Amino acid sequence: MKHSIRPVARIIQSHRQREGGGFIVRRPFPSAGLSHIDPFLLIDEMGPADYGPGEAIGAPDHPHRGFETVTYMLEGEFEHEDSAGHRGTIRPGDVQWMTAGAGIIHSEMPSRRIREDGGRIHGFQIWVNLPAKLKLTRPRYQEVSSSKIPRAKSEDGLVDVRVIAGSAFGASAVIDTHTPIIYQDFRVKPGGEFTESYPADHRLLVYVFGGSLELGGEGQRVNDGQLALLGDGDSIRVRVPQNEESEARFLLLGGVPLNEPVARYGPFVMNTKDELIQAFRDFESGKMGEITRSAAHR
Ligand code: MN
Repeated sequence: MKHSIRPVARIIQSHRQREGGGFIVRRPFPSAGLSHIDPFLLIDEMGPADYGPGEAIGAPDHPHRGFETVTYMLEGEFEHEDSAGHRGTIRPGDVQWMTAGAGIIHSEMPSRRIREDGGRIHGFQIWVNLPAKLKLTRPRYQEVSSSKIPRAKSEDGLVDVRVIAGSAFGASAVIDTHTPIIYQDFRVKPGGEFTESYPADHRLLVYVFGGSLELGGEGQRVNDGQLALLGDGDSIRVRVPQNEESEARFLLLGGVPLNEPVARYGPFVMNTKDELIQAFRDFESGKMGEITRSAAHR
């Protein structure tokens, strides 16, 4: 069967802004002109940022309802704890896939070591929307260490992928998702290229966070910090010319559009304004719980 290669439908330039307690993110959306790309609500590249001793900041206790937050670290460490009693450290290559569902309160902070001694933070947080029927699902939490994330390489060794969600190059993810999602971290060396099939009903996004690449049958150039929204087709084509100075790094994200109304405000994403008001009420009345801290963890 002949492939139909997805063209680049749109290029979105990311912007930098402060988030949480004040850490800098590079963010293609949401922005003033683009609320979300169904089913994704937010893409944040955290850093890379080098912090001195006492400088590193994160996002102290805050709630979420109605969607999922996915944290993937490249460098540095984040410590998290939440109102469901989970506590842990996300280290380089680790993934935390948190389904906030009906509601959770969590804290996401650079590790104590990085807060005290300084260090580099680089990673991603992506928000995945939930369909109306799952918005109040029980909170769920999957943490997968780097060594358990499936990896694959092209035969010539020039393309390397870590499969966080979905399948690529014969590798399938170990994380279970509520809706069909693709989340893959690619590295393509100069001279590398591939054409790979992905389900035609998925919306696909390519976020470049290092180097440059050529995308689609036309070889549209996409640079560091740009997000490409792909058009219809059954496969993607990526090429990094031989004369590029560095390898290209990108995330491939995909999901089936929910095609439902999105009502969002801060940490809550529902379908209607009334549901948002209810979310605030439930948070303020303590229905999303609280983080229980022993003195040792204060
Ligand atoms: Mn959060």
